[in-house]
Amino acid sequence: MPEFDVAIVGLGAMGAAAAYQLAKRGVRVIGFDRHHPPHTLGSSHGETRVTRLAIGEGDHLTPLVMRSHKLWREIERETGASLLSEVGGLIVSSHSNAAVTHVAGFFQKTVAAAERFGIAHELLTAANIRARWPQLKVRDDEFGYFEPSAGFVRPEECVRAQLALAQKNGADVRANETVLGFEPAPDCVRITSDKGTYSAGKLIVAAGPWLPQLLGARYMRVFKIYRQVQFWFELHDIAPFRPERFPIFIWELQNSKQGLYGFPAIDGVRAIKVASEQFESTTTPDTVNREVSTEEIAAMRALIAPHLEGVGPHCVKATTCLYTVTPDFGFVIDTHPDSKRVILASPCSGHGFKHSPAIGEALADLALGQPPRFDLAPFRLSSRAW
Ligand SMILES: Cc1cc2nc3c(=O)[nH]c(=O)nc-3n(C[C@H](O)[C@H](O)[C@H](O)COP(=O)(O)OP(=O)(O)OC[C@H]3O[C@@H](n4cnc5c(N)ncnc54)[C@H](O)[C@@H]3O)c2cc1C
Repeated sequence: MPEFDVAIVGLGAMGAAAAYQLAKRGVRVIGFDRHHPPHTLGSSHGETRVTRLAIGEGDHLTPLVMRSHKLWREIERETGASLLSEVGGLIVSSHSNAAVTHVAGFFQKTVAAAERFGIAHELLTAANIRARWPQLKVRDDEFGYFEPSAGFVRPEECVRAQLALAQKNGADVRANETVLGFEPAPDCVRITSDKGTYSAGKLIVAAGPWLPQLLGARYMRVFKIYRQVQFWFELHDIAPFRPERFPIFIWELQNSKQGLYGFPAIDGVRAIKVASEQFESTTTPDTVNREVSTEEIAAMRALIAPHLEGVGPHCVKATTCLYTVTPDFGFVIDTHPDSKRVILASPCSGHGFKHSPAIGEALADLALGQPPRFDLAPFRLSSRAW
């Protein structure tokens, strides 16, 4: 008989959600993290993550985020934490946009998803956008999609709250313990860490950007790691950027291969977070340069200056973060090709956080052999062209 029903490697967004969902169901669960989550070395930090209900990256994802919004409210009630702020979300695009957000036709696919799932939204002209948010310097041929139920979640608080609930429900949470390897046996999975050996009926591997190195060379070409930078720029005046007046935005720019996204000024701090995405050069969590250079800050300053009114040139802080990206920009939630006892969870590709509580629930279902609430076929490794 294994010591635990389920073990989890990695207690970031996905592992923390799975630990909570499993512990809530009364199973014996143990979770390991090489650091002390929430921390700033993986993919789940930087104060805010965009959430939106109409998901342009694929219709199979909208039910996940809808469920996640419900779960966040449940976790907020349980813990008293503030996790989800539905401040509204604006996507700006145009027929001549040069930037692509995750998938081709992202804007049109988002509108189609909103219509299909009955998600309240407005389609706006450039004049409408300028009238409502003069902070955004849109061009005459740009247009927008506004979703009132979009907004942001607080990644560190989400991880902290779910780990606290997991522990309250009996989960064994081991921080600062690195899993070195695992070996499936006929009746269990044996897990070796830098502090001991353990056995569990099932193992969930939710190691974020460390996933490929834990799984081995065969997976390096499937999961590519990209360094991203999040910047906070000082505002001339906080008032127009407070969450009551300013939404999250995603902007498919016309004159740049990079898009731009940003958040309102939160917690009374006179600065907004803005970021872009790069998919030019890959890295690893152990070798990545975690310093942000003055050249990178200057490049972001140059990107925002023509687009945002009221944002000053001073960068208050900047932090690096890691994307784990699959070739089709999708997620992997599947059993390991070599063992049904091992479940792989890599829901990132730069847009996974908003789905994390529902994914935690699906991982718990998979681990316990229960029918998942959602169709997980689109997340299978085996069904993908690559
Ligand atoms: C800059 C940036 C912006 C993003 N913006 C958005 C957004 O706006 N909206 C959105 O929905 N998503 C967004 N994402 C994606 C989202 O944040 C990720 O999908 C999500 O954080 C991935 O969570 P994870 O649990 O897979 O990884 P992580 O949170 O990194 O967790 C993995 C954990 O595994 C641990 N670990 C690794 N190896 C081991 C080991 N051997 N032993 C023990 N522990 C181990 C690590 O310490 C880590 O805590 C963004 C990501 C980044 C980087």
